[in-house]
Amino acid sequence: MGSRSLFLSVVIFISVLYGCSSQPVYLVNLSFVKDAIIRYHESGDFHRDAEKSVNEAIAQFDKITPSEKSAVVFDVDETALSNYEYNKNCDFGYVPEYFDMWIDSAKAPPVIEVLNLYNYLMDKNFRVIFLTARKENQFNATYKNLVSAGFTKFDTLIVKDKNYSGISSESFKSEKRTQLKEKGYKIEGTVGDQWSDLNGAYHGIQVKIPDFQYFIR
Ligand SMILES: [Mg+2]
Repeated sequence: MGSRSLFLSVVIFISVLYGCSSQPVYLVNLSFVKDAIIRYHESGDFHRDAEKSVNEAIAQFDKITPSEKSAVVFDVDETALSNYEYNKNCDFGYVPEYFDMWIDSAKAPPVIEVLNLYNYLMDKNFRVIFLTARKENQFNATYKNLVSAGFTKFDTLIVKDKNYSGISSESFKSEKRTQLKEKGYKIEGTVGDQWSDLNGAYHGIQVKIPDFQYFIR
């Protein structure tokens, strides 16, 4: 059994047991989980899975002839931009002050497979919109990072303003996509590493990028 298969088996095994309240809960030492995540990224398994997701998406987008307002909505973190090296250096912990500094540095590299999907969609004359739960004061750094990572053209970048503080990512993004729809956009697809990027209103083709580093509702 390969490292990826073993990792997934452990995750599924734990998930099944954890979901059964009448059963004992079996846990895996957090250090082993972190090691598995590092192997997943550095063995090439992450890139293989991301490429598979993107290729399946392209097969679906191939069937669409985009209209003037056809758009695909992309998430930012762990979708367009990779924070993997930063997260690994932080031992996969989340310290808001440090993560904000990392965002401000605007140094995150692209997720290459997602950049490939973006370039495909650009060539096909889809519009691209970035929708992220990053904060208002991170707009400029995020914009700069997206451009430097290769996402050089897009209709708009939407960040999470104060009106949405305390609201789940899924509700926030769903509401923003509804507003885009009301502005005349036809949302043909959503691309994200979290299901909260993809579920809800007007999601179109759902392109799930693998992410075992964290979970956002
Ligand atoms: Mg994300």
